[in-house]
Amino acid sequence: MDTFSKEKRSEIMRAVKSKDSQAELSVRRMLHQAGFRYRLHVADLPGKPDLVFPSRRKAIFMHGCFWHSHKNCPAARRPSSNVEYWEAKLERNAKRDKENRKQLKNLGWKTIVIWECELKYPDAVFSKLTHFLDEM
Ligand SMILES: [Zn+2]
Repeated sequence: MDTFSKEKRSEIMRAVKSKDSQAELSVRRMLHQAGFRYRLHVADLPGKPDLVFPSRRKAIFMHGCFWHSHKNCPAARRPSSNVEYWEAKLERNAKRDKENRKQLKNLGWKTIVIWECELKYPDAVFSKLTHFLDEM
């Protein structure tokens, strides 16, 4: 049972997000040190990707497991109160994500999603990303 109100739940989710952005920063730092140059939160691309590598035409999304419904992830478990509200909201998000990645693909961009739970292991994320970025 979800014992939190809608407002409290949102507050918790926001706190989770800001805590994890530390890991996000350390991944960025590693990429930068490895010589990869990127732009952040590029608003003129579909979905406003978190990291964009213009010369490689590659974009990275850093997704929160809850907000973006990470499949089979415990962090993406849906609240058991306000069920309809959350279902509708989270499904809308997922649909938008899919649409954004499709649009980017049509524009010739390659994309990858890094999930919030993966960021517990910044080194693994870094190696996944360098592979992605070096792929032709
Ligand atoms: Zn996850």
